[in-house]
Amino acid sequence: MTTTPTTATRTDGGAVFMNGNALRDEILAELKAKIDAEGNPEICLATVLVGDDKPSQIYVKSKGKKALEAGLQSRHVGLPGDIAQADLEAEVQALVDDPTVHGILVQLPLPDGLDAEPVLDLLPPEKDVDGLNERSMGRLVRGKAGHVPCTPRGVMRLLERYGIETSGKKAVVIGRSTLVGLPQVLLLGRKGADATVTLAHSRTADLVETCKDADIIIGAAGIAHLIKAEHVKEGATVIDVGVSRTADGIVGDVDFDAVQAKAAAITPMPGGTGPMTIACLMENTYDAYHMINGTTPA
Ligand code: NAD
Repeated sequence: MTTTPTTATRTDGGAVFMNGNALRDEILAELKAKIDAEGNPEICLATVLVGDDKPSQIYVKSKGKKALEAGLQSRHVGLPGDIAQADLEAEVQALVDDPTVHGILVQLPLPDGLDAEPVLDLLPPEKDVDGLNERSMGRLVRGKAGHVPCTPRGVMRLLERYGIETSGKKAVVIGRSTLVGLPQVLLLGRKGADATVTLAHSRTADLVETCKDADIIIGAAGIAHLIKAEHVKEGATVIDVGVSRTADGIVGDVDFDAVQAKAAAITPMPGGTGPMTIACLMENTYDAYHMINGTTPA
């Protein structure tokens, strides 16, 4: 079912409110129904958290809770922040070797002194449900089956769900990380989505000039209220990925109040891309189970 702009909730300024919490709940319910229909196989997401960073603890706890809501199993591996690199790699390798574990998520960033790259490289593409290591990225670039990083996948799901046309449209992605910006550019530009994509970053000379003709703007810089009304064309779709923690709470890259008056569709922050990231992690884990078993999803 696709919510059309005429039936979706709108902001005060009339923009379609792209509700990530609602879409996450729909996706989790759909996953649960599929897993029920398959006779409730045990599909396990393992999360690895190193150290005691509070936001990371909250993210990981929420991932475990939502996995259960989706009908998945969840296993948590909590490790001390002063763990040796070799011991961390041994813990992750044990999950790789465990046939009852289908998806593995290593919560990033790791504490200082630990190198994430060799840890992520241990994950076979089937179990790399975050889609972040070089083999998963290579598959994305080559158009081969594999897991797509959860946040950009979530953005694509929001665009599809709210019927936002991407084909032939001009999109600007702000931010070039391997976690969000780069895979987002690939997903928007690949066959099927067919957008013409510009990648903006901290060295972009004039961000207003770069954005002002865009049909779709995706903010993933992590700079509070970077994107203002002057960046946005009347009728554009604006998606906020950035998260900045301020004294007033979580703030996105988008100045929501100003931009919603010009945009045709907009995500809130929080409540937009964050919940979608979690929903797509569950979808990737479900897909991982079928990739590993060579079976077809319901
Ligand atoms: P990052 O720090 O690795 O990358 C930030 C990018 O923004 C860089 O490529 C940089 O060039 C660009 N940038 C910085 N300042 C800029 C400016 N003034 N103008 C244009 N570009 C600028 O961060 P990341 O890991 O890609 O995450 C980006 C943001 O998204 C962070 O706030 C992060 O917390 C958030 N995030 C949100 C979700 C979610 O689910 N909503 C998931 C992952 C990350």
